[in-house]
Amino acid sequence: MSESILRVQNLRVVFPHRHGELVAIDDVSFEVKKGEILGFVGESGAGKSMTGAAIIGLIDPPGYVEQGEIWLEDQRIDQLDMRAFTKIRGRRISMVFQDPLTSLNPLRTIGDQLIETIQMHLPVSQEEAKRKAMAGLEEVGIDPARFNAYPHEFSGGMRQRVVIALALSAEPELIIADEPTTALDVSVQAQVLELLKKLCRERNASVILITHDMGVIAETTDRVAVLYAGRLAEIGPTEKVLHQPEHPYTRGLIASTPSVELGNIDTELFQIEGAMPRLDALPTGCAFHPRCEHAQDRCVEQRPDLLQERVACWLYADG
Ligand code: SF4
Repeated sequence: MSESILRVQNLRVVFPHRHGELVAIDDVSFEVKKGEILGFVGESGAGKSMTGAAIIGLIDPPGYVEQGEIWLEDQRIDQLDMRAFTKIRGRRISMVFQDPLTSLNPLRTIGDQLIETIQMHLPVSQEEAKRKAMAGLEEVGIDPARFNAYPHEFSGGMRQRVVIALALSAEPELIIADEPTTALDVSVQAQVLELLKKLCRERNASVILITHDMGVIAETTDRVAVLYAGRLAEIGPTEKVLHQPEHPYTRGLIASTPSVELGNIDTELFQIEGAMPRLDALPTGCAFHPRCEHAQDRCVEQRPDLLQERVACWLYADG
């Protein structure tokens, strides 16, 4: 798991605004290794989905990547035009969204949709595409006899399995899963996450798993990146970050999530005071300082960079 499939360097995404520009993502760098599941975690507005959208070239205008580089193996992809990106999206990088209904056409059978996606990206005959589509359904635990069923004939969990089959159908190397189980019951959520994990392991595909839930991070990911107000607060192996969190925001997120994996199911849950700042009202210095019990003068005045590629907090600046 040493080679990188994706490298993001100093990514900055902005939205023009009447008073200048709003910075949605600022100076974010990370890599995803082959076969790895990297989690992005943080509250709403942290920049998780925006980072995913930048990678797959789907930032809603007028937003745009103002600075930084995104590399898919040895190909720089942040400067590709729409046409060139279409060859990558769905083929080398695919996406699983929170609501399966937004990814599925309600008027077409799931079989047709699978065949269309496969033939769009792979040079195979209709027959071969059908064979692959059937095998894909079987792989995600759906009876291939339901090939001609419509999306509304499936439960929420089964529909998300169809979406996973669609996302994997062109054999992508990287899957961006944006809150893929948030709309599902807890037991179905665990099954879908387990399935995603198993399939990616079997195919040596990498996953960026976007979630607000530290419990999902604990169960599913190899490494985790904690985002706050469009910047990386902390990044590292999941085991290390969960059991020895350094950034006060990471500690707050863990302490506020009831989870067997995190070992706090019986303890009184913590609540991080305040809320994620709006983009047009970002605090000076460390954006977390109004909510941080450790904030010092320096935190209000100067923004900490990511120290030792690990944590962005002045508490660790002197080693
Ligand atoms: Fe808290 Fe300061 Fe660290 Fe920000 S830099 S998390 S305000 S201690």
